[in-house]
Amino acid sequence: MMLDIHELCQGRWRGILSHFGLSQKELNGKHGPCPVCGGTDRWRFDNQGGRGTFYCTNCGAGSGVDLVMKLRGWDFKQAVSEIRPLVGMAAAEPVKAGMSDADKKAMRQSIWRASYPVTKGDAVDRYLEARKVDQPSYPTTLRMNPECRYSEALSFPAMIAAVQDLEGTCVSLHRTFIKDGDKAPVDNPRMVTPGELPNGSAVRLTPAGEVLGIAEGIETALAAGDRFGIPTWAALNANLLAEWEPPAGVREVAIFGDNDASFTGQAAAYQLARRLARRKIETTVHIPTMIGTDWADEVKGA
Ligand SMILES: [Zn+2]
Repeated sequence: MMLDIHELCQGRWRGILSHFGLSQKELNGKHGPCPVCGGTDRWRFDNQGGRGTFYCTNCGAGSGVDLVMKLRGWDFKQAVSEIRPLVGMAAAEPVKAGMSDADKKAMRQSIWRASYPVTKGDAVDRYLEARKVDQPSYPTTLRMNPECRYSEALSFPAMIAAVQDLEGTCVSLHRTFIKDGDKAPVDNPRMVTPGELPNGSAVRLTPAGEVLGIAEGIETALAAGDRFGIPTWAALNANLLAEWEPPAGVREVAIFGDNDASFTGQAAAYQLARRLARRKIETTVHIPTMIGTDWADEVKGA
């Protein structure tokens, strides 16, 4: 099911455009130099209706997609294919346009309150079981939302995970939209709610011990934690893993990296390891042997 690109990106353009090199200053809605053609004050990002609209007295006006096309010299099709993968995770890191902190908190609370603890046989349990993640009981930081809104038109059952910052304050909710025991067939089956994710943010799947594991994905963290017998948290993606901070009291960290053909997962794991080792935290890195796998896949194959 493919959403129209404009619908998909609505309210997320500041995040998307920052990926294409636009600075916060160029996106602040004030007159300034045009990121495409220069000048001094011919440009303004007016973001009408959250559609990423801009106006330049030289380039003209257009939508966020038009802007990406102009910036990169791409046709519509290529621009759309480059924008789509940025919408879910990456775009949600910067602040969603027009949403106040109170709005963001209200959104989190409404999703969380419409959710229940995960129980045997529900959509989340069946999804995790299909990934061979077998939990005797589920952490309270994971919940099941029977009908979580994906877009104006679509809702799915979803695994809801609380993302907590270093102090343990909930800063975002990670949603995995599910259909028939698998990820929902949509562009962004995984999404975080709008809001900043400060360094050190993670899904805390267990209480912290003196020895703590950290992985990218939630499924990977559960699988690796089981396999290695180490309480393990999920940092959600490679960037957050590389920048992760263990909470106070942790003296040993096991990093469960993904084995990506692009080496993204491995690089993030070793970047974190190097930073922690410098701080005299005992650190080990575990990468599954097969290219293109994570520890959830590895356990599945075992
Ligand atoms: Zn211009």
